[in-house]
This record gives sequence, C-alpha cells and structure tokens, in this order.
Amino acid sequence: MLVEIDAQRCTGCGVCVRVCPQKVLYLRDGKAVVKHPERCIGCFGCEDECPVGAARVVRAPRGMETPEVSAPRGSACDVAVIGAGPSGLAAALTCARAGLDVMVFERLPRRGIGHHPDGGLLVAPPGMEPRVGDGGISFPGLDISLRMDALRRCAEVGLVGPDGMRSGSRVPEEAPAWVVDKDALLRALAEEAQAAGARLFYGSRVTDLVRRGEAVGGVVLEGGERIRSRVTVCAEGVGAGMSIKAGFPVRRGPGAWHSHLVCAVFDNREGAAGALYYINGQLDRFGGQQAFAAVGVGERVQVMLIFLSRTRFYPAGEPMSSYIERFLREDKRLGNLLPGAVADRPVETITGCRSIIRDSWVGDMSGDGVVIIGDTWVHSGELGNVPSMANGVHAGRVIIEAARHNDFSRQRLAGVNTFISKNLLGALQANRNAKLLPGLVSEEDMRMIFAFLEKLDYPLLFFGNDAQRRRMFLRFLLRNLHRFILHPRLGRLALGG
Ligand SMILES: Cc1cc2nc3c(=O)[nH]c(=O)nc-3n(C[C@H](O)[C@H](O)[C@H](O)COP(=O)(O)OP(=O)(O)OC[C@H]3O[C@@H](n4cnc5c(N)ncnc54)[C@H](O)[C@@H]3O)c2cc1C
Ligand code: SF4
Ligand code: SF4
Repeated sequence: MLVEIDAQRCTGCGVCVRVCPQKVLYLRDGKAVVKHPERCIGCFGCEDECPVGAARVVRAPRGMETPEVSAPRGSACDVAVIGAGPSGLAAALTCARAGLDVMVFERLPRRGIGHHPDGGLLVAPPGMEPRVGDGGISFPGLDISLRMDALRRCAEVGLVGPDGMRSGSRVPEEAPAWVVDKDALLRALAEEAQAAGARLFYGSRVTDLVRRGEAVGGVVLEGGERIRSRVTVCAEGVGAGMSIKAGFPVRRGPGAWHSHLVCAVFDNREGAAGALYYINGQLDRFGGQQAFAAVGVGERVQVMLIFLSRTRFYPAGEPMSSYIERFLREDKRLGNLLPGAVADRPVETITGCRSIIRDSWVGDMSGDGVVIIGDTWVHSGELGNVPSMANGVHAGRVIIEAARHNDFSRQRLAGVNTFISKNLLGALQANRNAKLLPGLVSEEDMRMIFAFLEKLDYPLLFFGNDAQRRRMFLRFLLRNLHRFILHPRLGRLALGG
C-alpha cells in the first residue's frame, strides 16, 4: 500500500478524494478509505492537501520500499534543512563545508530513487554554466563538482503543435544543454553533502516548526520529535507547506493555476539522441482538459501529460493513468518524435507529481531564524535544477556569514534576497507564460501560432549567458522581422507579449 489514512484524525472532509488524480481514495462512513492502492502514483497530493495531516504517502514508487537507515539524530544542530532536493542539498553542502552542523530531513524514504518525474534538462543561466567531462559535471560558479555518468547532450528542444506542426530549436554549440538523470543528480549531490559532513535523514517528514518567540527555532518531525536549530532552511519545493507555516506570503489562492502530471517512463533502448519536446494542442480529447505534454529523452524516455486547472482538485473524470495510456496509443505525433522508442514497449514505471503556478513570488525570503529557497518562493512553479542549486549555495553563504556573527535575525539573513535579479525574474516569467499557453490560448489560436512558428527559421528558445542570448535574439529578430510586420498579432505572441 502506498498511502495510509489515519482514521482517528480524519474528519471526512473529502479533500484528498477530490485531489487524487488516480481515484485511489473514497469516502466511507464519514472517513477517507484507500480503495485502489495499486493505482497510486505517489504524487503526494493527498498528504500535501489534507488539512489535519491524516493522509500519508508511506511508500513512493518502486525501488523505495525500504527506508534508508539514518544516523543517530541528536536533538539540536546549527542548520536544519527541510527537503533534499537540489536547493536543500546545495545549501547543506555549502554550510557543512564551512564546518556548520547540518541536518537534512527528507520525507522520501531513499536518496535519489524514483524521485518525482521533474526532469533533468540542465540549461545554464548566466554565471552557472556547467562543465562536463572526466566522468562528472561541475558548476565552477557554485563550487559544486559531482561524479556521475548518466549525462547526455541535449541536441534539440522542440515545440510540436496541432496536426504535427513543428518548430525545432537546435541547442546551440556555444551554449550547450544536458539531459541528466534527475535521480542520479540528486544522489551525487547527496553524497557530496554527506562527504562534507551534513547528516541526511530520509523517511523523515517535517510536520511543524519549533518556535522561539516570533522566530523559527527548529523543526518538528512526524511523531513529535523536536530538533532545535540556529537557522532553518525551508527547501520543501512548490507545495511550500513549511514556508507558509513560517509566515511567508506564499500565494496559493485566486490567480493560481494548478497542474496535475502523470509520467510514463521507458528505457531508451534505441539510444535516441537527448532532446526535450513540448506538445501543444489537440490534447483535449484526453480528459477534456487544458493540457499539454512533454517528452524528455535522456538515459530514459519520459512521456508526461499535464492537466492545467484553476483548482487544486483533480479536474478530469477518469484516473489520469488511463489518459496517458490512451495518449501513448493514439497520438501520432509521439510516434513521429520517437520512432520505435516507445512503440510496443511496456511502460517501466508510471509516476506523477503536482505543481502550482502562482501569480506572485515572495520577494523577501528571510525571516527570524529561517530562510526559504528553491521552488518554495517562485511564481512559475519551478525555479529549475541549476538555479535551485545556485539558490541553495547563495543561501548557504549568507548563513555562514550569519554564523560568524552569531546572528540569525531577519536583517542578517536578508542577504538571501540578492539572489533575485531582473534577469532571473524575466526567465521565470517566460517559463510561466510558456507553461500556461494551453490554458490561455484557444485551439484555433494555437493552430495559428504554430502555422506561424513553422515558418520561422530560427529557434524560439534562447540559452546561454546575457551576451549569447542577446546575440541569438538579434539574429532571430533580423531573420523574421518581415514576418512580424506582416502578422503583428502573432509577432506579439511569439515574442511573449
Ligand atoms: C514535471 C517537472 C519537470 C521539470 N523539468 C525540469 C527540467 O527539465 N530542468 C530543470 O532544470 N528543472 C525542471 N523542473 C524544475 C525542477 O525540478 C525544480 O525547480 C527543482 O527540483 C526545485 O528544487 P527544490 O530543491 O526547490 O525542490 P524539490 O526538488 O521539489 O525538493 C523538495 C524536497 O522536499 C521534500 N519535502 C517536501 N515536504 C517535506 C516535508 N514536510 N518534510 C520533509 N521533506 C519534505 C520533497 O520530498 C522533495 O524531495 C521540473 C519540474 C517539474 C515539476
Ligand atoms: S483530506 Fe484528510 S481529513 Fe479530509 S478526508 Fe482526506 S484524510 Fe480525511
Ligand atoms: S495518487 Fe497521489 S493523491 Fe492519490 S493516493 Fe497516491 S499520492 Fe495520494
């Protein structure tokens, strides 16, 4: 069984039942019950949304059955980190290297196995460019070096529209992108953090924060154990449950979009070249939803179907896995992208996750005894793997400085906010617009956009540092200026207006 309901606590509010994309849970005699455990894809929706902490995902996807054994905990540390994603682990690594006593608490039972299907395209924002070689990847700007071999050069980022319309975007030589296995990335990062002295505790869910007057003074683990810390780092991802408890104004209400995602994973047996494709349009027949799909090709092939809605509740009638199965069978565009790669092949794993695309971000990431980092504060739902690591490193450096002064006040920790720049917010806004396209644009407009995109002879996606991106953008404008003049409305759309 993957999910458990604590019947004593359950009030029968039904939130988990309405949130679940797999129709695993039902209400019986005023309590939630697990009716179809075999369908659970480990999206954590029920656990994250249950208002009284009665729903709990006890086992995530295959390979995670046994919890990783943790070292003895102790009851206090300098830095308590909530979440072992890229941001939390990078913060832990940075602080531990400086000699601080760091504990990381992660609710998943093991490191880097069957993590959420949250992609592994590494596109380097300015100043964070990775170097690849010698059996690993390093980020000189972040002082992080990881030993891992599951790396594949990403040759293409493509947009696929209705009727197979297509706009390719070769990834330029001067600003390469890489597809990594996200599990392998997190495993390597966890090993580095541990080697630096951080203590990692998997299967350890944080349920509350310790208070020291107005300040945050540590974390409370499931079962009630209290761990005191001089500073707490909330790096729990887009749900931002602990960040909200710490008092940060993370918006989840009106204006927010919610996405439900289901992902089928295949072995890349055919050795297809590294790539990322987005498929837009003609997806309404898979549940009548505003939807898009994404295909990531790395060491494995991940095919994802994403439903967008204005409510946190699952919006479609059937379990989401049935729609992706139909999509895999019926959508011809997929076959054109991956000839032979997924046809007639059994799905290795089906997994899922949820995300929130908010309409505002948190501009102040510091509080008394606490900082928030990674996907907790952004409005686009995703900061990205490399920027999340960079956010963790930046916060780590601010914490080290605060420790030197033995001062973890909000004012001293406010240095975390200098991570937010105009460039970063611009990139996040572009990401948000791209993701919301199927929610904001009608099928007819989508067809027009793709009819136009197909004619463009330069990629619409831009990578690299500031100078590289400016050069690419200029070239793109010059080559297509006459088209923008002829079709001003589409020109505005293509330029993100
Ligand atoms: C579908 C999808 C595809 C993506 N594709 C890409 C991509 O190709 N390239 C890219 O750069 N980025 C991609 N991203 C974005 C990227 O995954 C995130 O920006 C990044 O993982 C954020 O890192 P984080 O450390 O802030 O949070 P997370 O990676 O979400 O880590 C948070 C961790 O906290 C744990 N946690 C949560 N609550 C608790 C609790 N109460 N107690 C203990 N532990 C807790 C979670 O289990 C999780 O492990 C994608 C995201 C999604 C959703
Ligand atoms: S959300 Fe929680 S309290 Fe509500 S029905 Fe589900 S388990 Fe019970
Ligand atoms: S699919 Fe998601 S919401 Fe449904 S039971 Fe599993 S973890 Fe909970």
